Amino acid sequence: MAKLLMIPGPIEVAPEVTAAFCVPPPGHLSPPVIAAHSRALKNMRAVWRAGADSQPFVVPGSGTLAMEMAAVNLCQPGDRALVVNTGYFSDRAANMLRRRGAEVVEVKAPIGEAPGPAAITTALDHGKFKALFATHVDTSTGVRVDAESIARAAGARGVLSVFDGVCATAGERFEMADWGADVYLTASQKAIGLAPGLALLVASPRALAAREALTVAPPMVTDWLEWRPIMAAYEAGEKSYFATPATNHILALDVSLASLVKEGMDAVFARHEACAQRFRALWSELGLSMVPKSEALTANTLSAVRFPKGASGPQVLAAVSEAGVIIAGGLHPKIKAEYFRVGHMGYSSSQEEHITKTLSALRGALS
Ligand code: PMP
Repeated sequence: MAKLLMIPGPIEVAPEVTAAFCVPPPGHLSPPVIAAHSRALKNMRAVWRAGADSQPFVVPGSGTLAMEMAAVNLCQPGDRALVVNTGYFSDRAANMLRRRGAEVVEVKAPIGEAPGPAAITTALDHGKFKALFATHVDTSTGVRVDAESIARAAGARGVLSVFDGVCATAGERFEMADWGADVYLTASQKAIGLAPGLALLVASPRALAAREALTVAPPMVTDWLEWRPIMAAYEAGEKSYFATPATNHILALDVSLASLVKEGMDAVFARHEACAQRFRALWSELGLSMVPKSEALTANTLSAVRFPKGASGPQVLAAVSEAGVIIAGGLHPKIKAEYFRVGHMGYSSSQEEHITKTLSALRGALS
């Protein structure tokens, strides 16, 4: 029997999502694909809690492409960007922005912490920034930032805000319209609940206007101006073509988003929180400490936990695997060997069997 995949993405996928995916590849202009594309784009606004005037994009690629699209459509050489840095993926965002020629300022915090509101507002007040980039949940540390206060602080100062939700979207509360966030991006293989292969993002009208105002166009395949009419056509149920959509993924995306919308986003967020609490109860029972330094900073989509003193990391991972569950090692280069990560997002967070099996494999390996 295949082992249970409990890493922080890719994750286990619902059987109905796999069933939707596993068909002979349909053409991108076939009526079922266009209908699925149309429903998926509409449902993205519901899952993202985005305004009716926002633009969802579904593009073949991974989360890194979604990040790149945000960086290159909002910033051009000479623009100033503030990165709220909480780890590995914030470093990636900063590097991307620098490659685009932006001037990047980073507010940082020690590992397991996030820059506080005062540090962020002070930086915003002194930097004349065009855009702020933050990682909603940093997969390397399990740290979740206070996205609401960051989005509001940026918005109040006329600074565009971008949130990398690759390890958060559809697992952690995010109210794009209400908080005034400008881009919220993710990838298909996390809490959205599909195989890897899609970059997914929603842009606010302000973000779209910022792209239109650029004088240095982004590379063609990342350019919102190329994709936007295509997305509008698909949403309206019309045929269109720029670059071939990942047709099987579109069919699967339609099924997974429809199921999230049917459950209701409040219920989806509550499910993730309840599931995360069960994992946290195990860490306390075993006397283990998490990488995030406080409960408020601790994500619900994954746990990043320090190994017990004297334990061999590889042996713990091997014992958990022996019990039929795959978890992940550390990712943050500075503490890589000191901790492990368990994903508890998406489909598995709704499956009692998956949760119980994982908790029991971990208890066996760690106690
Ligand atoms: N940002 C975050 C927070 C991530 O967790 C990941 C992937 N683990 C990425 C960006 C990059 O996504 P991908 O690997 O799909 O390119």
